[in-house]
Amino acid sequence: MDFNLPEETRMLKDMLRRFVDNELIPLEQKLLDRPNTFELPEDIYRELSGKVKDMGLWAWGAPEEIGGAGLSPLDGCAVIEEVYRSTVGRSVFAPRFAPVLYELGTQAQKEKYLIPFVNGDINGATAFSEPQAAGDLAGIKTTLEETDGGWVINGNKCWISFAKTADFILVLTRVKGTERHQGMTWVVLDKGTPGLTIGREQKMIHGLSTYELFLDNCTVSREQVLGEPGQGWGAGNTFLYSGRMEIAARGLGVADRCQEMAIGYAKERHTFGKPLSSRQAIQWMLADSAMEIHATRMMVYDAAWRATNGEDVQQQTAMIKVFSSEMTGRVVDRAVQIHGAAGLSDETILELCYRDARPMRIYEGPSEAMRSLVARGLLQ
Ligand SMILES: Cc1cc2nc3c(=O)[nH]c(=O)nc-3n(C[C@H](O)[C@H](O)[C@H](O)COP(=O)(O)OP(=O)(O)OC[C@H]3O[C@@H](n4cnc5c(N)ncnc54)[C@H](O)[C@@H]3O)c2cc1C
Repeated sequence: MDFNLPEETRMLKDMLRRFVDNELIPLEQKLLDRPNTFELPEDIYRELSGKVKDMGLWAWGAPEEIGGAGLSPLDGCAVIEEVYRSTVGRSVFAPRFAPVLYELGTQAQKEKYLIPFVNGDINGATAFSEPQAAGDLAGIKTTLEETDGGWVINGNKCWISFAKTADFILVLTRVKGTERHQGMTWVVLDKGTPGLTIGREQKMIHGLSTYELFLDNCTVSREQVLGEPGQGWGAGNTFLYSGRMEIAARGLGVADRCQEMAIGYAKERHTFGKPLSSRQAIQWMLADSAMEIHATRMMVYDAAWRATNGEDVQQQTAMIKVFSSEMTGRVVDRAVQIHGAAGLSDETILELCYRDARPMRIYEGPSEAMRSLVARGLLQ
């Protein structure tokens, strides 16, 4: 049994590691006072995203036919793990690919929205969450109704990342009168569509705000509806599975780096005349983190390998979303503990990592909902 990554994946990972170590990590100290890890000063963003494009890794997860690098889930996890070792690289590897548009969009919709989005020429957001239903996606209430004047949308959304700067927003609706999984339909809305209002800014722990959206008799033509009405459920799920795998790989990168920092600090910091690394209490924290990172890495790459080979990974992605996000929280917390006050200050990246790690257990499916999904699979 061979647990090694394939040769090409290892080479890709090594290349990324060199890029992160040489280009991103040296910038971290200078960029510590950013509000969040997703926004970079324009000049730095341009330079770094240019280098990423030169490496052929811009839009790593998007298919080549729409301008992406077309990486497999396995290679994608390798890229994400390495990139998330630094707090600088989050936004220089292209916006998140929008599989809903790819799966359901017509050629015209892809040309207008998806291809420019993948190229980084326009911004997009995805809106499924609502005040009464977010984790329980089938409970959404936003309606879509065909009338003589067009397709009318009514409802409201919340917690929408990137809504403020988005040129288009993918909105999950349901055909009026349908319940639960039936009638789910994605609609793509242009910024400024009459009846679409961006509401209150909802400031989040990791510094990247989300927004409310109001859809008040928002009327669009058939060209804005993705696929056939009612086709939205399956497409939405594919988006979530790939997203959950990505979150698991992100956690791995964050945890790996924090552990590296904890080991370094434990060796150099002396208290009561001895290095921290000589204390069993510290050694056990490091050992626990090492075991948890190793187990997570095995699980994440197993799921990614299965997805690359075309297996249904609904169960595995739910498992790794929980396992990795919870592991990341514990590993970052231990690294903070080992650093003492320095870990809580703005003098290291640890407090940024701490704030980045916490939402991972909630967005795109909270741990409890993921555990329910795993249990359903076991019991059915
Ligand atoms: C930083 C951030 C960015 C986000 N960006 C977006 C975005 O761009 N677009 C978008 O549409 N949404 C976005 N969201 C919303 C996100 O998808 C939801 O927060 C998530 O799906 C959980 O929904 P909820 O917050 O309504 O929690 P709920 O579904 O109300 O759950 C609340 C809590 O109840 C418990 N719980 C839930 N379900 C179960 C269950 N089955 N069994 C037992 N316990 C359960 C869990 O502890 C959970 O944390 C974002 C959220 C965050 C935090």
